[in-house]
Amino acid sequence: MTVHTGRHFLQIPGPTNIPDRVLRAMDMPGLDHRGSEFAEIGFAVLSGMQRMFKTRQPVIIYPSSGTGAWEAAIVNTLQPGDRVLMCETGQFAVLWRGIADKFKLDVDFVPGDWRHGADLEQIEARLSADKAHKIKAVCVVHNETSTGCVTRPLDVRQIMDRVRHPALLMVDTISGLGSMEYEHDAWGIDVSVAGSQKGLMLPPGLGFNAVSDKALAVAKANPGLRSYWEWQDVMAFNKAGTFPYTPAINLLFGLREAIRMLEEEGMENVFARHKRHSEATRAAMKVWGLETQCQEQGAHSPVLTGARMPEGHDSDHFRKVVLENFDMSLGTGLNKVKGKLFRIGHIGHFNDLMLMATLSGIEMGLDLAKVPHRTGGVVAAMDVLKRRDAAPMPKAAVA
Ligand SMILES: *Cc1c(COP(=O)(O)O)cnc(C)c1O
Repeated sequence: MTVHTGRHFLQIPGPTNIPDRVLRAMDMPGLDHRGSEFAEIGFAVLSGMQRMFKTRQPVIIYPSSGTGAWEAAIVNTLQPGDRVLMCETGQFAVLWRGIADKFKLDVDFVPGDWRHGADLEQIEARLSADKAHKIKAVCVVHNETSTGCVTRPLDVRQIMDRVRHPALLMVDTISGLGSMEYEHDAWGIDVSVAGSQKGLMLPPGLGFNAVSDKALAVAKANPGLRSYWEWQDVMAFNKAGTFPYTPAINLLFGLREAIRMLEEEGMENVFARHKRHSEATRAAMKVWGLETQCQEQGAHSPVLTGARMPEGHDSDHFRKVVLENFDMSLGTGLNKVKGKLFRIGHIGHFNDLMLMATLSGIEMGLDLAKVPHRTGGVVAAMDVLKRRDAAPMPKAAVA
């Protein structure tokens, strides 16, 4: 067995690195989840998550992975036969679509090449052609974690308003929330879906839905079958700071601490930090001569970068070399980009020197794996990090 010293570098775009403060906050004995002591933490995380989503409307917290929160969004608002518009931005869009198929929704899947955000022209064309308003929901992935391409939810909302389409707008921001600007209310989102193990810096195990009044009204009238995911039941208990079933108590302690950390840094600073690390990563890739998976100007993800391998080189072999030599995990290429790209996570609990170490490991790995490249990517990234205009000094944390 290889012995490693120091910390493992977990540079996949989720699960992400967990801050020691969050680990310590979760290191708690059991607690009566029906008692008043629990209600205090219940209220704290429910209001904290409203601030994360930027909403005054209800947030539902499930003991689940993000996939559960995807399913919850579907089963509360839709029933078999309902038409939904989804967009093939990458593997996570494909997986969400798979759930819709299992619930026998009638999915209109806008094709994509996995190198761009959602096809806004196609969304507009299909919504305007739908004069009878058969489409009940438009579902988009905010930050497509399999490619590193962003779709701006507000762009989709503006299209829906322009063509006056009454469908619900559902957004998967599982890998965006807590790292990228997100405004559930101001952007007119009906259901936002998130998870704990990406920008929120927690272990996996919490799923979230932020829900608009319109989505709630649709859910109330929806006779479709559901039990565990029923929003109304959870919301009724949440009034008292509790949950209808045993919540993931220790994760909620971690969540309260993670929200504190993000707010101490200030959300604007958190967002700027991610953009800056993404910019530095792309500067390194440019020197290496590696293409970004995302080919849309202005759509590069702040939280991860998909790096294409040169023809004839396998990204999983490269990842193995990096893992064996430097104890660093990079994200694999998923589904149809398997072997073709690796993903660099620069998300969550992360700083300049962690990025420099990550990029150094990649540059050394490219050498060891004999992947053609130019050296000096790390230096280019340092130049970006040294630029003060690219490095806003932290403002006072917002209360
Ligand atoms: C991670 C992720 C998911 C899946 O979440 P799980 O917790 O693995 O179920 C879905 N969508 C996006 C965009 C993700 O990044």
